[in-house]
Amino acid sequence: MTQTISIPRTLANRLLTQAQFSPDAEICGLIAGDSKNKYRVYPIDNIADRPNCVFEMDPQQQIDAFKNIRQAQQNLFAIYHSHPTSEAIPSARDLHDSAYNEALNIIISLNTKGVLDMRGYFFQQGKAETVELIIE
Ligand SMILES: [Zn+2]
Repeated sequence: MTQTISIPRTLANRLLTQAQFSPDAEICGLIAGDSKNKYRVYPIDNIADRPNCVFEMDPQQQIDAFKNIRQAQQNLFAIYHSHPTSEAIPSARDLHDSAYNEALNIIISLNTKGVLDMRGYFFQQGKAETVELIIE
């Protein structure tokens, strides 16, 4: 059975806007959440050598984001990144590099012009399990 996860429309729009502003490089970041369904987005610089098709989060920014998330008494809700020219399907590299198995992975694709294509996955032992994202 496919798991469903709801995310607020404002959050989805924010991720899409960030991705649209970066048509040549993947964007990435963390999303913190808590039991009151409050979310906070932490955009992180993509420092990959080939940012058009790979993302690698700036390590210091990532550490700072986790510190802020803890201080705000929130948890890591999701890791997001964009695919400027390909579908919102995890690459082999995405699966290989994923370090947080408990977090939702959100991929935003700009491949389909004008259409919001945002998909969610859990990565488990090198496999992607699709999550149905309900945007409300
Ligand atoms: Zn990817």
